[in-house]
Amino acid sequence: MDNIYITPEHELLREQVARFIAREVEPFAAAWEEEGCVPREVLRKMGEAGLLGLMYEAEYGGADADALTNLVFAEALSQSTFGGFIITVLVHTDMASPHLFHAGNAAQKARYMPDVIAGKTITAVGITEPGAGSDVAGMRMTAKREGDEWVLNGTKMFITNGVHANLYFIAAKTGTARHDVSMFIVEKGTPGFTVGRALKKTGWLSSDTAELVFDQVRIPAGNLLGEEGKGFYSVMKNFQTERIALAAMAVGHCTQALKMTLDYVRQRQAFGATLWDKQTIRQRIAMLDAKTRAARQFMYHCAWSVTQGRDIVQEVSMLKALTGELVNEVLQTCQQFHGGMGFIRETAIERLWRDARVLGIGGGATEVMLEEVAKRY
Ligand SMILES: Cc1cc2nc3c(=O)[nH]c(=O)nc-3n(C[C@H](O)[C@H](O)[C@H](O)COP(=O)(O)OP(=O)(O)OC[C@H]3O[C@@H](n4cnc5c(N)ncnc54)[C@H](O)[C@@H]3O)c2cc1C
Repeated sequence: MDNIYITPEHELLREQVARFIAREVEPFAAAWEEEGCVPREVLRKMGEAGLLGLMYEAEYGGADADALTNLVFAEALSQSTFGGFIITVLVHTDMASPHLFHAGNAAQKARYMPDVIAGKTITAVGITEPGAGSDVAGMRMTAKREGDEWVLNGTKMFITNGVHANLYFIAAKTGTARHDVSMFIVEKGTPGFTVGRALKKTGWLSSDTAELVFDQVRIPAGNLLGEEGKGFYSVMKNFQTERIALAAMAVGHCTQALKMTLDYVRQRQAFGATLWDKQTIRQRIAMLDAKTRAARQFMYHCAWSVTQGRDIVQEVSMLKALTGELVNEVLQTCQQFHGGMGFIRETAIERLWRDARVLGIGGGATEVMLEEVAKRY
């Protein structure tokens, strides 16, 4: 136990995830990177192991766990060096399905939650559009009420799990005011809803990312998620869970990369001694480790604050900005210390370096997070 917030039960969870990753992920994930998709069977196995609904109600198959347990899970996933696998899972558990958990009514939860937790239904969340990312309220997609239906029109962009999800939580404008946004449940296969081209990315290669097109998509009135016109606040609330999970991925990969680099520089010879014998190398590793450990403590403190019911938008925004930048600083240096090997595809360090880039962009870009911090002083 190296953290006052971590209990023996958390350690057991971390070990369970480590065993799952060693058995079901690491031997196969390089092939998934080539294919651009994590097989659904793997997600079903995670569901069977009870790993996809930690925060959710026991009556639907969840574990009723708190934000700290959820953070332990997200950090434990980062024992895998395949960011594409991790984000496929975390979007389902921490970014998309929380919309159902926080805003769903009893009928919606009873209908969807059991299969979401079992990994039989995989979820995606569509907020970003071609013309509006950081500026969520600038979205153009509309939902208009017609009798017992809502009619959706618009396009969503960069949607993780977009190609292979079964269930989508979609944000759309339901009025003319800037923040008049509502959330909707859209099932795959609904007429007029098409998944556009899968987008080719720099990293997270096994994660499927898509453009979604909605052309006169009619859904039942009962698919409104939460209150009409309150979706913007729902999105902002969910960002807190999402950002702690993304921080966990960043911190987890800093820790992994530093461990790998320490092993590498201790054995790599140059100028008659190991790289570790060069003061500049070992001091930079020591400083990056110090920053990583400090960020990790702050991250656990944020999750603990969530368990206390505190409003921590400023702290979580700081955490997202800090860890999104730190993972890039750590990976840039760790890759550098691997020399030419760090530039070779299929080495873990090269993949971690590529995957780190998006952590300063997705789920709240650094500059936007810093504005969220600054406006709360
Ligand atoms: C791989 C990947 C997966 C994603 N998955 C999803 C998903 O599942 N669902 C979803 O809805 N979205 C998803 N996104 C979208 C992601 O959240 C957005 O890309 C992100 O919010 C940034 O929005 P943008 O790309 O439109 O950039 P913009 O908002 O156009 O920003 C461009 C740059 O300008 C900066 N900037 C913007 N506003 C300000 C400001 N006020 N002051 C200073 N600088 C500013 C930003 O920080 C950024 O550096 C994903 C993106 C990627 C790349």
